[in-house]
Amino acid sequence: MDSQAFRKHGTEMVEYICKYMETLKDRRVTPSVEPGYLRHLIPSEAPYEPEEWGRIMQDVEDKIMPGVTHWQHPRFHAYFPAGNAYESILGDMLGDGIGCIGFSWAASPACTELETIVLDWLGKAIGLPDHFLALKEGSTGGGVIQTSASECVLVSMLAARAQALKRLMAKHPNSEESHLLCKLIAYCSKEAHSCVEKAAMISFVKLRILEPDENASLRGRILAEAMEEDEQQGLVPFFVSTTLGTTGSCAFDSLEEIGKEIQRFPCIWLHVDAAYAGNSFICPELKPLLKGIEYADSFNTNPNKWLLTNFDCSTLWVRDRIRLTSALVVDPLYLKHCYDDAAIDYRHWGVPLSRRFRSLKLWFVLRSYGISGLQNYIRRHIELAKRFEQHVLKDKRFEICNQVKLGLVCFRLKGNDKLNEKLLSTINESGKLHMVPASVNDKYIIRFCAVAQNASEDDIDYAWETIVDFANELLEKEQHDELSEIINRKKEDTLAKKRSFFVRMVSDPKIYNPAINKAGTPNMSLDVTSPVVGNSRNPIIRTQASTDRNTWISWPLAFLFNSNNDEGGAKSNVSLRFRHLDTNVRPTSSSRRNSGATSSPSPDNELGFINLKKSPIRQSTSPSPRKSH
Ligand code: PLP
Repeated sequence: MDSQAFRKHGTEMVEYICKYMETLKDRRVTPSVEPGYLRHLIPSEAPYEPEEWGRIMQDVEDKIMPGVTHWQHPRFHAYFPAGNAYESILGDMLGDGIGCIGFSWAASPACTELETIVLDWLGKAIGLPDHFLALKEGSTGGGVIQTSASECVLVSMLAARAQALKRLMAKHPNSEESHLLCKLIAYCSKEAHSCVEKAAMISFVKLRILEPDENASLRGRILAEAMEEDEQQGLVPFFVSTTLGTTGSCAFDSLEEIGKEIQRFPCIWLHVDAAYAGNSFICPELKPLLKGIEYADSFNTNPNKWLLTNFDCSTLWVRDRIRLTSALVVDPLYLKHCYDDAAIDYRHWGVPLSRRFRSLKLWFVLRSYGISGLQNYIRRHIELAKRFEQHVLKDKRFEICNQVKLGLVCFRLKGNDKLNEKLLSTINESGKLHMVPASVNDKYIIRFCAVAQNASEDDIDYAWETIVDFANELLEKEQHDELSEIINRKKEDTLAKKRSFFVRMVSDPKIYNPAINKAGTPNMSLDVTSPVVGNSRNPIIRTQASTDRNTWISWPLAFLFNSNNDEGGAKSNVSLRFRHLDTNVRPTSSSRRNSGATSSPSPDNELGFINLKKSPIRQSTSPSPRKSH
């Protein structure tokens, strides 16, 4: 393509994007395609001969768009926002046009310097302490753009690990590094994003995942107790990842409490992951949410979530850039330059060598909107979330499940998890709205996030009306199903009565011979509402007749009845979790004999079932899979 053609197709592409954005609401939010749909539409080999531009663009509309989830759709309320302002798109376009690879200052000075300046701008606007700002007199810190929050957490953990190992090596000079590595232990809350667990996997360190309080907030005391306990076991606490604005329910760890508690631990690096919420701290009224930041060693937020900037743009600030880079420096001759000592080389601040000119788009956004414009945008989303919260509060069939501080509302139908799962899946299947679930206080909840850049009250009202329509339908159906169930149970009771009578007829002549039994048919109806007597370990169903005659159905059958009645896991011991496997499988001695599992026997389960129990604190030495976003 020459520049003549680029001009033409570039203009067409801008037109295509504008039209896409303007007509977005006419499309389904989520695609209705099955995995592998595209394989059937696109050849299995790349074309050998060049193809016409027009044909490629036609395929975009015909083949690609049907499989796109429209994150910018006004009915998209899942996850967190994905920034997409036109100013940012143009900034990215320019960066792509310049096409430099700014791994060092010398590789493209403007790329490095603009990043440093823009990160200082944003850091100041957020209200970070001066030591995080690269250009502040006497500061040792600074900011850098990473690809994702996950990467920010990872490089912070790597830096903390290097610092801790250095300290330990100085104390135990004859020890192997690998021996010291297995002593290191990191901490986060159960509500922290799965990227912390992934970072621990990559860093090869232990991670202890702690139970937050009833507001999903990690408290200082819980952390300090865990750290003390681990120290007594000979472990070395070295890293704490806190979250301001958790993914599940936008909860805030108690940073100030945590900061104070960890002062007693000399080796600790305190990281603050504020991927979504951090952007909102540009509003003065929200700065109290940042309380305790003075204790932090690093802080990250994603302007590509809530600051109108396109992915990728995840900003990380550190208190001490030398401590960060000393974990990541490699210095081959071909990358050296004569300003090595005088300038920042961002290749030492992260995993990749090559870096795009990402600061351009953030610079475009900050200048075009101004801090005041961005504050208005954040405030607008919060207002919309509050509006949605009010809708929920007015309908007594629903409940709110988080403290709505920013743009995320967590809600659910009062009732069991299954009901809410059904509600969400039918809404999502319809393609009218898109939301995702989370687990808050061990309950399945639905997350509603104000996402669209220009979302209006009408969008929020529409979303609520749609939710109510689906809920009405579902509850009506549930009522109908409940009624059918009662009728079925009645039928089953009658059948049970007849069967039981038949059994007795065969075995007890007093019953079938009216001459012997003047009392007639015994009342043998099964009390389905409260069938369990005895103790819960050895459930026994008592028939009505049993009260009089002392006849019992012993536990295997009772267990069967009981589990049949266990609709939707409502009475189940198994806690349903969104991402975290915070359950201990505790096979009892008999099931251990069968499975050879390593867990401890359960004293409260002698029947040999596998008992899944919620564990208040889980120490993850071999990290488990967690759902990520
Ligand atoms: N941390 C938090 C609090 C998040 O909410 C998310 C994603 O939503 C992440 C980290 C991961 O972000 P990224 O996709 O940029 O790695």
